[in-house]
Amino acid sequence: MREVKRVNVGGLELGGGKIFVQSMLNVPAENIEKSVEQAKALEKAGCDIIRAAVPRVEDARLISALKNAVNVPIVADIHFDHKIALACIEAGVDKVRINPGNIGGAENVRAVADACRKKRVPIRIGVNGGSLERDILRKYGKPTPEALTESALGHVKLLNDCDFDDIVISIKSSNVKLTIDAYRLLAKTVNYPLHLGVTEAGTERMGLIKSSIGIGALLCEGIGETIRVSLTADPVREVYAARDILKACGMCGGVEIISCPTCGRTKIDLITLANRVEEMFRGVDKPLKVAVMGCAVNGPGEAREADIGVAGGCGEGLIFKKGEILRKVPEDRILEELKLEADKLFST
Ligand code: SF4
Repeated sequence: MREVKRVNVGGLELGGGKIFVQSMLNVPAENIEKSVEQAKALEKAGCDIIRAAVPRVEDARLISALKNAVNVPIVADIHFDHKIALACIEAGVDKVRINPGNIGGAENVRAVADACRKKRVPIRIGVNGGSLERDILRKYGKPTPEALTESALGHVKLLNDCDFDDIVISIKSSNVKLTIDAYRLLAKTVNYPLHLGVTEAGTERMGLIKSSIGIGALLCEGIGETIRVSLTADPVREVYAARDILKACGMCGGVEIISCPTCGRTKIDLITLANRVEEMFRGVDKPLKVAVMGCAVNGPGEAREADIGVAGGCGEGLIFKKGEILRKVPEDRILEELKLEADKLFST
């Protein structure tokens, strides 16, 4: 297992074993009301850390507004201007995402590092394949794992030179294979917590596929302390996707839905039913396996490892527990009956 330095982000300990889910507001920073509304929706969806872009010094007031509105750590995403970082730190931000190599020189880096140290605010260095330094690109010819890692290490050195070590790193690319290889190399090179993500991953479907492969592969190797699924979609969908990736990797609790692919034996609208069951249990963080199977011939047996489940029939469903059939219920009562059985298990 990779030894990771512990970094505290507003009370959450990166490097302590738990993987934290992040997302980012996509409302203009000056629209405080809409930003707060979106942050609340993200918190409700299970987002552990919320990031907001802060493009101007005066937008730092968004940080205090968010801190007052939600109970999750807030990260300020800043490019180029160290004064914005100082304003956000002053406003109580929990982490700053900034690349020290592009904020105008050693003096500015020291000012940010000192302010962060005083308030125990960590810094995330965020390297992207698309915005590598020119000299590194020239040296490697294109974004490579070595190029991305060298860029990250350059930023790390600037902070270390200011005796600053409270660092988180991301090293993203929109290319899944490059992302995986780069994080593997970085994980071997430094012990800082890593923020995983495939950047500009795309629309909801393709973005989820790319992120599942990239983030999932790394998580299964024990790499990564916090994840962001980047989707061209409502950020709440990013949180659901991230949570589902963690679930698929066996790294978070909650209800796991097992459902069959349907076949010629299916006599019930299983696709709708499986989606409704998934929706009903979304956000429940107790461990439970629920099977939604298309027929009674194979359903209960095939889903024996599920805690509870339903096998569809013609206008009805068989509710079962660990493969044992409990009772037959009409189709329109299936959801209620599953909920009933789940509640019984939760209360024992
Ligand atoms: Fe077909 Fe039944 Fe298997 Fe579903 S559980 S795939 S309906 S045989």
